[in-house]
Order: sequence, then structure tokens, then C-alpha cells
Amino acid sequence: MSKPKLHVKKGDKVQVRSGKDRGKEGEVIKVFPAKSRVIVEGVNIIKKHVRPTQDNPQGGIVEKEAPIHSSNVMLICNSCGEASRTAKKVLEDGKKIRFCKKCGEDVE
Ligand SMILES: [Zn+2]
Repeated sequence: MSKPKLHVKKGDKVQVRSGKDRGKEGEVIKVFPAKSRVIVEGVNIIKKHVRPTQDNPQGGIVEKEAPIHSSNVMLICNSCGEASRTAKKVLEDGKKIRFCKKCGEDVE
């Protein structure tokens, strides 16, 4: 069995396609392949209440990115700079790589 894989990975630049952050762009900072979710820098910010601790005796509210479904993001191609669909191709050595469906350039 192969592990579930997302069409984006950590470090990718992506654009959000739906939801309240539609149109925002950011870098993927975490992926959850089993849940098909990703965390994108600056996207889907939630306010989290934190209890007072020794370091932060006041407690308070921390803003933090919450995961969004991976189908809501599209990769931004490094070559053409557009949010585009990617497809996979298999190289001669059996390695799979992604490529941009708009300009045809390899993504990694
Ligand atoms: Zn492209």
C-alpha cells in the first residue's frame, strides 16, 4: 500500500480557491495527507484562547492557522506564476514528478 499523497507539499506556494480566504496566496507549512488537509501560511486564521502559563501569565488569545482541505488550494507554478493544475508523469528511472498543466514545466 502506498501512502496517501496530496497534490501539494510543504514549501509549495499555493492559492486558495474557496472559502473566506479565497484568492489568498501563501506557503504550505504543514500537510496532513491522511486527512487531505494542509496548513497555509496566513490562511484560515483562527483565534485560540490560551490559559495563563508561567511564561504568559496573562493568558489570552493567540492567532493561528487552522488546516484547510487540500482540494481548496491550487499550486502556483514557479515557471508561469499562475495557479494551475498539476499532473504527474513518470520519469525513465521510475520517479514520479509533477508538472504544470498550463506551461508544461516540471514543478520540482
Ligand atoms: Zn506553469
